[in-house]
Amino acid sequence: MINVKPTKCVLLLFLLLLSLFSCKAENKIQTIAQQVSEEIMEQYEPLEGVMTLVADAKTGEVIASVDLGGTGDNRSETYTYEPGSVFKIFSISSAMFLPNGITSDSKFNCEGFYDKVKGNPIKCIKVHGEIDTGDIIKYSCYSGTCSAVETVTDKELHFMLSQFGFRVLPPEEWSERSKYTVALGQGIAVTVKQMVKAATVFANHGMLGAGEMEVVSPKVADDMLLMMEKATQPDGIARLHGVKDCRVAIVPGTAQWYDPETKTYSDNKFVASALAIFPVEEPRYIVYNVVLHPSKGGITTGTGICVPAVGKIINEVIRK
Ligand SMILES: [Zn+2]
Repeated sequence: MINVKPTKCVLLLFLLLLSLFSCKAENKIQTIAQQVSEEIMEQYEPLEGVMTLVADAKTGEVIASVDLGGTGDNRSETYTYEPGSVFKIFSISSAMFLPNGITSDSKFNCEGFYDKVKGNPIKCIKVHGEIDTGDIIKYSCYSGTCSAVETVTDKELHFMLSQFGFRVLPPEEWSERSKYTVALGQGIAVTVKQMVKAATVFANHGMLGAGEMEVVSPKVADDMLLMMEKATQPDGIARLHGVKDCRVAIVPGTAQWYDPETKTYSDNKFVASALAIFPVEEPRYIVYNVVLHPSKGGITTGTGICVPAVGKIINEVIRK
């Protein structure tokens, strides 16, 4: 006689239904990520394609991954590029965590450029005037970012970024400008997967991935998430039209493309991107969209292309 306890049967059935349900939800996320990426391909014809990753905000585990216009193999772990302004969330939180760095209340003055560095002044996107640390993220202020890392040493910034999981040139090989350009996400090569994994620190109160190690303090991580949320306010850099009933932390970026052949930055090729973590009160997802050299439609920025794309994905994810 077969002796199966009814409670065991019910439990097995429940687990089966749960896994079927979560599979269906993940397929749906993959479908929307694919759809949004295809729309970008059509609308902006990015010369080197588009990559979109949706991951578990706590572990960095991939839920959906799309790569269009590349070589055929998914490039999320292999293709390196300069991330631009999105990278500020890592450099600013590093400066907030280091004892000789800044706090969330520090004040800065943006005159539209930063000239306390050798060589040409580093231009900001506009004159932001008097701002605090949160405003650097909210308005994407380049000048404020440079001021924020002034008192941090090359070695310290290098150490912190390595803790986040990035492979950075050793500080001995940095020029006098490197600390500032690296803080702005230029002069550093990353992969899509590295960026998403590093962002788990802000979803996990300072811990990388599923508790691998503490990179910044819980306060710094939580403060950064709230600063990123302010970017969605009406005067912020990443307004999310149409996303309702979900608090989103988001940061966009636009990086000039570095041509390794000519060893110069291109004037007309950009890497546009946006990274979102949500819901802010208890993060579950990270969405990262990277568009490589948009060539059509006259828009080349992360704010213009990737923020709306990420918004569409968020809407589908929270509706599931
Ligand atoms: Zn500024």
